[in-house]
Amino acid sequence: MAAQYKVAIVGAGPSGFFAAQALQNLQSDDLKFEIDIIERLPTPWGLVRSGVAPDHPKIKTVSKVFEKIAAEPGFRFLGNIDLGKEITMDDLKNHYDAVVLATGSALGRKLGIPGEDLRGSLSAADFVPWYNGHPDFVHVDVPLDGKVAVIIGAGNVAMDCARILAINPEELDSTDTAPHALAALHMSTIREVHIAARRGAENAAFTAPELRDLPKLEHTDVYLSADEVSQAHARAQAQGEIEKEVRNNLEAMRLISENPPKGHERSLHMQFLLAPKEIVGTERVEGITFSINRMDGEKVVDTGETLTIACQLVISAIGYNAEPLAGVPEDKGKIKNSEGRVEENVYVVGWAKRGPSGVVGTNKSDAADVMKLLVDDLKNPKGAEDILNLLPAGHIVINQEKWQRINAAEIAAGEPLGRPRLKEVSREKLLSLGEG
Ligand code: NAP
Repeated sequence: MAAQYKVAIVGAGPSGFFAAQALQNLQSDDLKFEIDIIERLPTPWGLVRSGVAPDHPKIKTVSKVFEKIAAEPGFRFLGNIDLGKEITMDDLKNHYDAVVLATGSALGRKLGIPGEDLRGSLSAADFVPWYNGHPDFVHVDVPLDGKVAVIIGAGNVAMDCARILAINPEELDSTDTAPHALAALHMSTIREVHIAARRGAENAAFTAPELRDLPKLEHTDVYLSADEVSQAHARAQAQGEIEKEVRNNLEAMRLISENPPKGHERSLHMQFLLAPKEIVGTERVEGITFSINRMDGEKVVDTGETLTIACQLVISAIGYNAEPLAGVPEDKGKIKNSEGRVEENVYVVGWAKRGPSGVVGTNKSDAADVMKLLVDDLKNPKGAEDILNLLPAGHIVINQEKWQRINAAEIAAGEPLGRPRLKEVSREKLLSLGEG
C-alpha cells in the first residue's frame, strides 16, 4: 500500500497552489498526499484575486490552473481558517506530516520619511487590495479629491497603481474592480499622476511587457523624457554589454518617450533620479519633496538639489515584508529559511520565502524545488486526526464546494453588467454565499 502523508499548505495564493501541484506531481504508486490548503479568507487565489490589476485580466486566467489543482483527489480547500486565531503552528505540526507556509508578503515597506503618516499618504499594500475588493481593505481612506498623485517606486506595482489612477475609469467598467473602488474612481478628480524612481531608467524594476502597454492607453498621455532614456542608455552602455531585460526596458521606454501626446486631460509622468525626502502638508498631503540624484556609474549620488511636486495623494510602492507568524522565525521581512526549509517538517514557498519578487509563474519552479526537499525529508506518516476537529464549534469553513458557490454567484452577478465577476467584499456575505 502507498504511504499516505498529510500536508498543510497555509495560504491559497499562487505559491500555495503551485506547491500543491508540485506535490500532486510527485505522487507515485508508493507515495500519496492528502493536501489541505488553509486560507484565512473565504476565497482562494491570493494575489491573483486581490493583487493583479483588474485591467490585466489575462494574468488572472491562471486561476483555471488553480481550480484544476483543487479538483484533484486528496485536495481540500479550507477557507476562513486563520493561522494564529482558529489554529496554531503547533496544531499544524501535530496534525500534518509537513507544513508549507505560503503566506506571502502583505505588509508594505515604509519610506521612513517625515509626513508619511499624513492623510493621503498610503502604501500600495493598502491601495491595491482596496481596489481589488479584499474584505479587510474596503474601508481604506483613499482621498481622490485632489488633482495630482505621486507614486513612489519603479516596479510593476507602482505602474499598476499609477495606471489605475491615471486611466479613464470607464476603462475599468468591464473589469472586476471592487464596486466601492470603481465608484470612487469615477468620482476621482485626479488627472495628473507621477511615477517617481530614485535611480535611473536603466535601473527600473518595471518589466518590458508592462511598459509596452503604456502607449496603448486610450485616454491618458504618458510623458517620459527622451533625454532621460538616452542618458540611461549611455550610462548602461558604459558599464559593458547591456543585459537583455534592461535593453528591452529602455527600448520600451524610448517608444513611450517618442509617442506624441494627444492632448488628453489625463496624464502619467515617469520621472527618474528622485529620492523621496519629505511628504509635506499640515492636515493632509500637500506635496512631496525629493532629493535630486544623479548616477555616477552604478552609484547613486545626491546632487544636494531638491524638487517639490505639489500633490494631494502619495502612494509608496517600494516592496513588501512578510507578516510575522507566531512561532515562526523571520529574517529581514521574510520567513527565515534555508532553501525553503524552516525547521523540521516546516517549509516556506513564494514571497514569504524569497521576498516580493518575480511574476506569478516564478512561484511554480520555486515551489517545485522546495516540495522535492519536503519529499526527501519525509519519515513515517503520522496518521494524525483531522485538523477540522480542532475548530471552535460552529466555525464556518469554506470548502471547495462552498467556494464554487461563491465563485458562481459572483460570476452570475457580474454577467448582466458585462463584468467577469462582481466581487463580494464582505466576509459575512461571502460566508452566506458559500452556504447557498
Ligand atoms: P519591485 O519590482 O521590487 O520594485 C520596487 C521599487 O521600489 C524599485 O524600483 C525600488 O528601487 C523602489 N524602492 C525601494 N525602496 C525605495 C525607497 N525607500 N525609496 C524609493 N524607492 C524605493 O517591487 P514591486 O513593484 O512591489 O513588485 C513586486 C513583484 O511583483 C515584482 O517582481 C513585480 O515584477 C511583480 N509584479 C508583476 C506584475 C505583472 O507582471 N504585471 C504586476 C505587479 C507586480 P531600487 O531598485 O532603487 O531599490
